[in-house]
Amino acid sequence: MTRDFLAMPDDQGYFGEYGGQLIPPELKAIMDGINDAYEEVRQTATFQEELNDLYANYVGRPSPIFFAKRLTARQGGARIFLKREDLNHTGAHKINHCLGEALLAKHMGKTKVLAETGAGQHGVALASVCALVGIDCEIHMGEIDIAKEHPNVTKMKILGCKLVPVSRGTRTLKDAVDSAFEEYMKDPVNFLYAIGSVVGPHPFPKMVRVVQSFIGRVARALFLALEKKLPDVVTACVGGGSNAIGMFTEFLPDEAVKLVGVEPGGKGLDTPDHAATLTLGSKGAIHGFACYTLQDDKGEPLPVYSIASGLDYPGVGPQHCYLKDIGRVQYEAIDDAECLDAFMTLSRTEGIIPALESAHAVAYAMKIAKTMSPEQTILVNLSGRGDKDADFVANCLSL
Ligand SMILES: *Cc1c(COP(=O)(O)O)cnc(C)c1O
Repeated sequence: MTRDFLAMPDDQGYFGEYGGQLIPPELKAIMDGINDAYEEVRQTATFQEELNDLYANYVGRPSPIFFAKRLTARQGGARIFLKREDLNHTGAHKINHCLGEALLAKHMGKTKVLAETGAGQHGVALASVCALVGIDCEIHMGEIDIAKEHPNVTKMKILGCKLVPVSRGTRTLKDAVDSAFEEYMKDPVNFLYAIGSVVGPHPFPKMVRVVQSFIGRVARALFLALEKKLPDVVTACVGGGSNAIGMFTEFLPDEAVKLVGVEPGGKGLDTPDHAATLTLGSKGAIHGFACYTLQDDKGEPLPVYSIASGLDYPGVGPQHCYLKDIGRVQYEAIDDAECLDAFMTLSRTEGIIPALESAHAVAYAMKIAKTMSPEQTILVNLSGRGDKDADFVANCLSL
């Protein structure tokens, strides 16, 4: 069977039955305008050159692949490799799509860029690129996350963005999205909502995938050069799904490569405290697009939880829903305890402190490596670094 993954989404923004634009007509016109502007500008040499120059000289791309030798020896079994997105300027993969969004905003003559943030990584990345291109930036963040992710909050203030604390609901990511969206709707013609993942109405799941997919393109080429064959397993954590789709896209046609998205199992899948949307969710809609969601019997999103603020979202990118249904990507859950263990183990075997989000993927690799042979390999997308989580983890473990 040939599957033309890159032909997706269709004109209406659908990946199979997921995605689309479940939004009022006036907002649909705005989104279509963004799509048109994006499709026009991405073809131009000046936009490509500006973006590529910034990726190389501002972000520090391409980032390498690292063989985690001591981690592999400790676990036994398959050899574990890390794609070092943690080395990017601002500490995670999010700078990749923020740069694209900020340049698009500038090109479209927008006056303000706004967004929500969970762990603060999207907020810091966006505030940085807005300072870089010289455009106003406003970030909405739940009060719980503000308390937990203090270093990122301080950075956003230094970078000159307007930070809006969100005190409604669970005071985490979903409420921050609602709050930022309300502000956006006050003037969607002049504002750009810079969505922080492959979620939201069309064209965002497509745009964010396109700019993130060089993660996998570079990783696949570097891995082939290093090992002369493709990895057996490629894995990445899934919140909204941008670092995972960025990693997976290039590998989708390689049917022999097993792709695994890792969701936050929180305090356990038998408790309400998780955000394992693909593992336990059902078909629904959230924030203007159709996807699997964790919802109550009225279709309202359930409160979700993860030790990693960047993963606790009750929806998930539409392409992941499609890839789950056709069976091309497998989705697994890792709980908080396994995540913390991986966080500490990677820190102490390799001297790399991972983001708590990324530690979910590391934990999955650690778990399955033992069940595989030493000839086999696992490639983990290390989506970000853990500076932001260091105090929180030290507290958790009374270090
Ligand atoms: C935000 C974030 C994630 C989760 O977002 P995705 O869109 O699922 O990639 C994962 N890792 C890090 C380091 C993050 O900052």
